[in-house]
Amino acid sequence: MSELNLILLGPPGSGKGTQGERLQADLELPYYATGNILRAAVREQTELGKQAKEYMDRGDLVPDEVIIGVIAERLGTHEAEDGFILDGFPRTVGQAEALAERMRALGRRITAALLIDVSDEEVIRRLGGRRTCPNGHVFHIEFDPPEKEGVCDVCGEQLIVRDDDKPEVIRHRLEQYREKTEPLVGYYDERGLLERVDGTGSPDDVYESIRALLATLRMEEEA
Ligand code: AMP
Repeated sequence: MSELNLILLGPPGSGKGTQGERLQADLELPYYATGNILRAAVREQTELGKQAKEYMDRGDLVPDEVIIGVIAERLGTHEAEDGFILDGFPRTVGQAEALAERMRALGRRITAALLIDVSDEEVIRRLGGRRTCPNGHVFHIEFDPPEKEGVCDVCGEQLIVRDDDKPEVIRHRLEQYREKTEPLVGYYDERGLLERVDGTGSPDDVYESIRALLATLRMEEEA
């Protein structure tokens, strides 16, 4: 396949981050997770971070105009030439339209939007036990515990509960997803780009489904 320009779609806690990290290592493509980019900006107190912080703490989406430029800029870089993996972007129809416009300007197109499907109950269970390090590596106290409790296996940093993984904020993030992001399922379906993956299995099972799906997409392209 000449280019692999992938979008990971799905509610918070569906496993986009876990699968995105695996895809990144496997496909050797840049992985742009807007949540991670924004959290780093908040930590470093950049202008972007200052604009985003209040929204993130409440579990609201940051305004489209704050986030669109961040991604548009990265898609035009040398490292993204052979493709990219987007996680957490687009999250609104406005962002999807801006992305389509950017791709047109670059003479490229989205390969597929992979929807990782899980129920609300599963999301709440997963996010409640999630622990992350400041560099965005993700663990789960029940399903994917780190080797040493409270410490990141990858970089040795302290693991924490994200403010927005607290129960009342989780509920609000899910509402935001249903209201603003779920319409993208129809948006990409209408354009023939939507691919559904059952996200309820183990991370290995879900990754297997994604790999099978990508293999099918490759065969279709070559046919
Ligand atoms: P995530 O790690 O993807 O769950 O993102 C954490 C938070 O960052 C979200 O709850 C939003 O406040 C913000 N955020 C991340 N990506 C976007 C986006 N594409 N549009 C608006 N807000 C975003």
